[in-house]
Amino acid sequence: MKHSPLPEKLINQLSSIPDLQLFDLPIEIKRFSRDFFDYSPVLQQKLAGCCADVVVRPGSLVAVISVVEIAKRHLIPLTLRGAGTGNYGQSVPLEGGIVMLMDAFKDIRSFDPFTGQVTVESGCLLGDLDKYLALQGRQLRLLPSTWRSASIGGFIAGGSGGIGSVRWGFLRDPGHLLGLEIITLEEKPQKLQLDSKSAEAINHAYGTNGIITALTLSTAPAVAWQEVVIDCEDWSTALKLLLSCSQAAISLHLCSLLENKIVDSIPTWSGASTGKHRLLILVAPDGLSTLERIATQADATFKYLGAEENRKTGGLRELSWNHTTLHMRALDSGWTYLQMLLPQPERQATEVLKERWGDDLLWHLEAVRQNGTQRLAALPVVRWRGADLLEELMTQCRDIGAVMFNPHAITVEDGGLGVVDSDQVEAKRLFDPSGILNPGKLKGWL
Ligand SMILES: Cc1cc2nc3c(=O)[nH]c(=O)nc-3n(C[C@H](O)[C@H](O)[C@H](O)COP(=O)(O)OP(=O)(O)OC[C@H]3O[C@@H](n4cnc5c(N)ncnc54)[C@H](O)[C@@H]3O)c2cc1C
Repeated sequence: MKHSPLPEKLINQLSSIPDLQLFDLPIEIKRFSRDFFDYSPVLQQKLAGCCADVVVRPGSLVAVISVVEIAKRHLIPLTLRGAGTGNYGQSVPLEGGIVMLMDAFKDIRSFDPFTGQVTVESGCLLGDLDKYLALQGRQLRLLPSTWRSASIGGFIAGGSGGIGSVRWGFLRDPGHLLGLEIITLEEKPQKLQLDSKSAEAINHAYGTNGIITALTLSTAPAVAWQEVVIDCEDWSTALKLLLSCSQAAISLHLCSLLENKIVDSIPTWSGASTGKHRLLILVAPDGLSTLERIATQADATFKYLGAEENRKTGGLRELSWNHTTLHMRALDSGWTYLQMLLPQPERQATEVLKERWGDDLLWHLEAVRQNGTQRLAALPVVRWRGADLLEELMTQCRDIGAVMFNPHAITVEDGGLGVVDSDQVEAKRLFDPSGILNPGKLKGWL
């Protein structure tokens, strides 16, 4: 529900806060009220008209608190924005109000060479953080394929996993997020330090229950990732290869499988299409010979593309995860997508769905670790034929045992989480008792 437009008087109050940039031109407001929700025709329709009344960019924590005080006093919706690359309208202000840009908070505060733990401000771009970590001999464990442009705060609040998930699982698995600094929206806003246990409730809550200003994360030792492509004629062999590569005793950062019709349509950074299905792999140098052996045994074509760091153009990372959807949509915006964890045996599931949907569903699989076990996630690109058919497809996926992470939903629970997390709701009750943070996104609160 849209609240009534902000009166001039309140805009003036905001504009008098020191260290705060205010954007009130309609074109700027519109730009900062959108993310990449247009991958979903369902969300396009639902979110097209959502727009902030005003956008602010605080340059200090004092300015954040001053904005919070005004928003609280007048019950103005307050929606946070990192880089705005979310896919489900996470940073779209459903009820208008203030959008607050967090990109001025980008310092790396500390690094512990013994544990590899890093404490960083929420607006720091993942690419910048990873560059800094490389100088310390470390790297991020998990990155979205938007790793160049997205912020670490937005990734924790709105993302789930991506490059690295083949080894490290997902962001909400214990051990990744070790602590948070947040600003609360209590009667008297406070800056709080949360330990890893209390931070869990803020992780993947779409910024509905606290303003993250800094985070402490685990990192991994740096590896000089090598790019490998394996081409394979037959789908069932390609699937077997994906499983055997991801289960081998080698270090992987990425292990994706694209159906041949996708390979035909995306940029040629992995080499020209051979008309075959293609595995895209980032592997540690000592795993190259094992991958070659696995590919040769399966009669597939192994191709070593070289060290990832020598890449001049886009690399395999930017053909994977939701970048696959991006490239398909760049060619034809009639494509949308789904996200799910495939049931086992995966081959049967992919074949049953293919039989029903034909080339309206093109397979894109990602090897991931789920609760400590190697599994396959799928982000198939799907031809948009209307909401009813999409619903039918999702029902069929659930019926065959897939766990859906619906990318056509607005709330935390209907999207990635699946269920109401009472700790998230309790954290909102404590830290945002008036419910003004990103209203409409936490179903458990509604
Ligand atoms: C082509 C493409 C590929 C993608 N690939 C992946 C992928 O591989 N894996 C993945 O997980 N995601 C992926 N995404 C989604 C998105 O890019 C990532 O989740 C990204 O990390 C979001 O970061 P952001 O800075 O853009 O966050 P935003 O979109 O700005 O915000 C995301 C959410 O976080 C909240 N938020 C932002 N900053 C704060 C803060 N300081 N405190 C509290 N809440 C805050 C916002 O309110 C919003 O709810 C992809 C998107 C696209 C378009």
